[in-house]
Amino acid sequence: MAKRIVLADPRGFCAGVDRAILTVQTILKAASAPREDGLPPVYVRRQIVHNKHVVEDLAAQGAVFVQELAEIPDEAAAAGIPIVFSAHGVSPAVKAEAAARGMHVVDATCPLVSKVHREVLRFVKEGYEIVYIGHKGHDEAVGVVGESPEHVHLIEHAGDVDSLDFTPDTKLVLLSQTTLSIDETAGTIAALKARFPWIKEPPSSDICYATSNRQTAVKLVAEQSDCVVIVGSANSSNSVRLMEVAQDALGTRGTAHRVDDASEMDPAWFDGVEAVGVSSGASVPDELVSGVIDALRDRGFTDVTAVETIKENMHFVLPAELRSRQPSRA
Ligand code: SF4
Repeated sequence: MAKRIVLADPRGFCAGVDRAILTVQTILKAASAPREDGLPPVYVRRQIVHNKHVVEDLAAQGAVFVQELAEIPDEAAAAGIPIVFSAHGVSPAVKAEAAARGMHVVDATCPLVSKVHREVLRFVKEGYEIVYIGHKGHDEAVGVVGESPEHVHLIEHAGDVDSLDFTPDTKLVLLSQTTLSIDETAGTIAALKARFPWIKEPPSSDICYATSNRQTAVKLVAEQSDCVVIVGSANSSNSVRLMEVAQDALGTRGTAHRVDDASEMDPAWFDGVEAVGVSSGASVPDELVSGVIDALRDRGFTDVTAVETIKENMHFVLPAELRSRQPSRA
């Protein structure tokens, strides 16, 4: 019997990533000729999405990526060069800096991340202290905490709950990063509820549909596999969570690996393996998954079966100022 590839569906691009990439592509397309002043057609603050191939591809088309707005020269702001904020969102301090420098900002923050920013503002206005479950230093968490650093208390794991100290008369609510592991977060929420039984949850989970759907699919895939390959970059929160979820589902039967592309796969991973599960993070173009499938086919994994758990039809429109300029998808 042929060795098998078990392919997760859904996998790869989510609506927020698709919108963020299309935002930069739309600006690049509108500025087809090089500028006489030598300035680039667009700056992007931080990686537009956490995938090195996507960033390299947009950079090759002329986008200039910066870590901080301070790296962008005043002449670019004065010339009205668009500055795109990444899908992960920014803190109010970054918006204020851009406004003070008169920058032409195009905000590609995922609407589902913006929703968490709005929740922070609403709950702070209502007098709540916010326990935010997220990853310290991740762009999304930095942006959300920056909405109200004195009222947003970031914890990463259930083990961090002991570091919090609130009296029962404190109004408390929990919010979370959009790309966490659903199972691990459930454990953290249980620990929070045990310590602070009056803590309130948001009207709907902050963990987004794409994170949740990809984790459900990869669990089923891992249950039918001896080993799992997740395509995604090391700084992609949802890709790393997929690898962890796959490892949990595999247990001691096998190992889950994360790769940026097929070139990072180690042939030794597949010794004695009959079925390899494959999925990809929400910021990963499907051609990188195709590359992994082709490499596995070369190793004798010729029977490809898809495990579909749900059909996704989420779509976010482009930032308002770009809508009339949207290029057609090739
Ligand atoms: Fe938005 Fe979720 Fe995609 Fe993040 S993973 S960009 S929150 S849809």
